[in-house]
Amino acid sequence: MLTTFDPARVFLKDLPLTFLGEVALRTAFAYVAVFLFLKLSGRRGIRQLSLFELVVILTLGSAAGDVSFYEDVPIVPVAMVFVTLLVMYRATTFAIERSKRLESWMDGKPVTVIEDGLYRLESLEGLNMSSSELFMELRQKGVEHLGQVRLAILETDGDVSLYCFEPQDVRPGLSVLPPPHRTVVQEAPAEGLYCCTRCGWPERLRLGQRAKCSRCQSENWAEAISRTRVQ
Ligand SMILES: [Zn+2]
Repeated sequence: MLTTFDPARVFLKDLPLTFLGEVALRTAFAYVAVFLFLKLSGRRGIRQLSLFELVVILTLGSAAGDVSFYEDVPIVPVAMVFVTLLVMYRATTFAIERSKRLESWMDGKPVTVIEDGLYRLESLEGLNMSSSELFMELRQKGVEHLGQVRLAILETDGDVSLYCFEPQDVRPGLSVLPPPHRTVVQEAPAEGLYCCTRCGWPERLRLGQRAKCSRCQSENWAEAISRTRVQ
């Protein structure tokens, strides 16, 4: 039963102090093994890891962590984990490079999420991505409203590629700003152009008018913005 706080147990348990030297050696082994793995895997960097690469990296990190400080984890089986992972990683990337179908199955396909200033609802619904996440991406790329966007494509690495309208082609669109800068209403507080907050569809509403979006049937509106994008 663990009832008392025992510093000896918490800090070193029953291991001899010399074990610390062994930890240093084990960590050096893990370091070299991870380094070799990354060099031999042929990857250039860690940006844009695909889902399957992330799984490989997590498994690798777990094996490297365990062998570093568990006194009962021998080094040779961990070395085998590294070799096996490396072989499987190389085999998978080899297969992916040769089969477009396998590639899109493993990594997914780029998906168009915005077209001509409007959401592609069917894309967002199938993506497990909320509009607030997408809005954040758009804000970080300097977009203020959907009317500035000609095409937005969600890439397989989770990044959003953006193609904007020329300033003269920008149309009134749905604001992508967070709540304090964007008021959502069901009833128009003044006559003007409003955009459906679900799909971006613009509609002119009279004072006090409630309306259903003719594109997606949503009943929430935000005032349309028509500012052009400052580069
Ligand atoms: Zn709508």
